[in-house]
Amino acid sequence: MALVAHDAKKDDLVTFCSQHRRVLVGCDLIATGTTGGRIKEACPDLSVTRFKSGPLGGDQQIGARIADGKVDVLIFFIDPLSPHPHDVDVKALTRLAVLYDIAMALNRATAELLIVQILKNQRVA
Ligand code: PGA
Repeated sequence: MALVAHDAKKDDLVTFCSQHRRVLVGCDLIATGTTGGRIKEACPDLSVTRFKSGPLGGDQQIGARIADGKVDVLIFFIDPLSPHPHDVDVKALTRLAVLYDIAMALNRATAELLIVQILKNQRVA
């Protein structure tokens, strides 16, 4: 599972991860640099592989993992109210998630639904 949050949404994603840590502890997590650092700080029991910061290529690194078939779920808490210098990278990342048909949540409401499904899958496995 890949985790990314724009700056204004990082607190929300950290809270989300803390609340769902029991589900997430069973997942291989990758994240952009700053997002991953924040998650690790708040949830040291989660195993998070950190890539570069989003504006420095981290979104593209995650996109490459999606293209390689190594990501099942993308949770990206997007800030719709601020301009971002790396908007094209964000667009490329979400485009690849659609192209490779992986589950993608761009806000908390959808991310909650994905967690419910992941929990169900973990119980069956
Ligand atoms: P960050 O990148 O986690 O390094 O801040 C996220 C982004 O803005 O794409």
